[in-house]
Amino acid sequence: MEDLQKNLFGGGECGEEVHESLRLTFHDAIGFSPTKGGGGADGSIIIFNDTELAFHANIGLDKIINKQKPFIARHTLTAGDFVQFAGTLGVSNCPGAPKLKFFLGRPNATAPSPDLLVPEPFDSVTSILSRMGDAGLTPDEVVALLASHSVAASDHIDPTLQGVPFDSTPSTFDTQFFIEVQLRGTLFPGTGGNQGEAESPLKGEMRLQSDHDLARDSRTACAWQSLATNQKKMQSQFADAFLKMGLIGQNQHNMVDCSEVLPTPPSLKPNPHLPAGETMNDIEQACATSPFPSLTAQPGPATSVPPVSS
Ligand code: CA
Ligand code: CA
Repeated sequence: MEDLQKNLFGGGECGEEVHESLRLTFHDAIGFSPTKGGGGADGSIIIFNDTELAFHANIGLDKIINKQKPFIARHTLTAGDFVQFAGTLGVSNCPGAPKLKFFLGRPNATAPSPDLLVPEPFDSVTSILSRMGDAGLTPDEVVALLASHSVAASDHIDPTLQGVPFDSTPSTFDTQFFIEVQLRGTLFPGTGGNQGEAESPLKGEMRLQSDHDLARDSRTACAWQSLATNQKKMQSQFADAFLKMGLIGQNQHNMVDCSEVLPTPPSLKPNPHLPAGETMNDIEQACATSPFPSLTAQPGPATSVPPVSS
């Protein structure tokens, strides 16, 4: 663990390597379908990276896989355990993150995942909910897992931009992601017209088409809104859904609870707000049964969100 913190996460930062390690947990785990095959959270994305990195949805994951491989070689964890452990430990570096659980005991993958099991940002809500449901995750759990986009940035949606955050606070596990995606989109941070990208409200911020649509769809909008100012609820729902995701294709009863080795994440005083220059009129109300929580904007003129550097 010290090796990982020091040599992968830059001494315990919540930066680019955490973002990418977190992305990898999902892309390994979601490779599971009761009818199409795949072993879920089994390390197949590393063991069979020649196959899986050729899948369109996995573009760019070669970088973090190449960084993680030497750690797997010098430690005793299987690839499946390592992928989930690295993501879990990494999130623990982010202020505001929940205390996560980690179970050990994933056998090594014996085959690659089939292609087309990882949802893409240009997929419809119907297609995403259906794919995630096929892997055992409910619409509420899909929304909860997207809390990960509070500590994330895009390197590949717009090929001219790297490290473009999905919210204005990419090194803080706060609720800003759920607020900012509900704001009316007005601009593209770089070039427009990229597949899977929607207009965002802030210079320097990336919005995925799928996040935009999930925030506004009647099946997910109220769950989305319920996390916008509720840090505790977001923490507990993310912790539960993230544990479940990391056990896809595995039998928890054959595994060992090693959660106590994980550090307690730095605490965060919740401060949900509108970015400077925005008003409640810029919120696109989508939940039909209750209004979006009232928020005030940070003072001053609108500012730009700086990129995440690696
Ligand atoms: Ca897998
Ligand atoms: Ca954030």
